[in-house]
Amino acid sequence: MISFNEALNTVLDTNIRTKTEKISLHQSIGRVLAEDIISDINMPPFDKAAMDGFAIQKADIDKKLTIIETVGAGQSPTEFVESGTATKIMTGAPVPKGADFVVQVELSEMIDENHVRFTGHSKSNIIPVAEDVSIGGRVLHKGQKVDARHIAVMASVGCNKPEVYKQAKVGIISTGSEIVEPENTPNPSQIRNSNGHQLIAQVMQANGLPEYFGIIEDNYQDTFNAIKKSVELCNILLITGGVSMGEFDFVPKIMSELGVNIKFDRIAVQPGKPTTFGTKEDKFVIGLPGNPVSAFVQFEILVKPLIEKISGHQPNEKQIKLPFGIDYRRKKDERKAFIPITISDNSEVFTFEYHGSAHIYALPKADGLAVIPEGKKEFIKGELVNVRLF
Ligand code: AMP
Ligand code: MG
Repeated sequence: MISFNEALNTVLDTNIRTKTEKISLHQSIGRVLAEDIISDINMPPFDKAAMDGFAIQKADIDKKLTIIETVGAGQSPTEFVESGTATKIMTGAPVPKGADFVVQVELSEMIDENHVRFTGHSKSNIIPVAEDVSIGGRVLHKGQKVDARHIAVMASVGCNKPEVYKQAKVGIISTGSEIVEPENTPNPSQIRNSNGHQLIAQVMQANGLPEYFGIIEDNYQDTFNAIKKSVELCNILLITGGVSMGEFDFVPKIMSELGVNIKFDRIAVQPGKPTTFGTKEDKFVIGLPGNPVSAFVQFEILVKPLIEKISGHQPNEKQIKLPFGIDYRRKKDERKAFIPITISDNSEVFTFEYHGSAHIYALPKADGLAVIPEGKKEFIKGELVNVRLF
């Protein structure tokens, strides 16, 4: 049995990356940039008025000035602002030559149609050319995961077909002779397949491409055939169930027989101890426990970082430290535990009724998972605990 940190390091110890492709800007949401994005513009492209008002020479602030022109956003000034003159200007318009100041309209007073004076002093209200970005400057880095903020940046520098990593293909097999699909009514010895569908959803949330291979009965040959065939069709193959010590838990043995190099088959973590991980050439094969909360947690803490890594993104799961709102105790402390918790309005952590790794009905209530380190049996109220937010 290895520690969770060793397991994670083992999983992430790979140079394999998906291929890259150029796609349209909007399709790139959730994908990872395979190139740096370089600006083809200065931003702002000119000295820009930050306020509606009057462009003047600063030394003229106390004078009566003659208005020589009006410049709106999208227009170009034609007149030079000499001493004694002012150009009426709108927010976002280029500041005319000669002017070094824009006095906001709120501080102006029209004397007549063509003359203005000011009732107070303002700041310059000019945003200098290229204050934010210069031509040739790198605005986004390779390896960046794209969200709406990055879309804005790419749009502004004319990048409408970014090069991104292809989505990792993640195959999913559910094992178990007791498992039926959701559209069926289980007979007294059956249960519905929650894992397979949960994993499809988790893969989608992790920006992978799920490939569902269905339910395989606990039969050695069928399981062998299914794994053998499916592993060829994806970058990562997830198999749920069949990794424990039961008579029909064939998965680790089949992985070995298919030439998968098993790197670990037990992790000191709760839930999800029997998680089995191996590689075969450029493929990853992961046996996840059948219990749905275990499968959920193992996906979040091991599989999602792997999907991110092979699709070009450096996994950077952030944890926050919050105080327990209660005394927390557990009986055994050999394993690192991930327990569902809620966070109160004043940011304290609370546990709630949770029956263990089959209790998926508890998960939707949780705001996140508290991380209880190995060797730690209790937290007292107020003590800080690491939390992974959902
Ligand atoms: P196993 O790891 O195959 O021994 O399964 C452990 C427990 O998880 C058993 O109670 C199974 O019935 C349950 N289980 C296995 N596969 C699934 C699944 N796809 N959906 C829901 N529960 C499952
Ligand atoms: Mg089973």
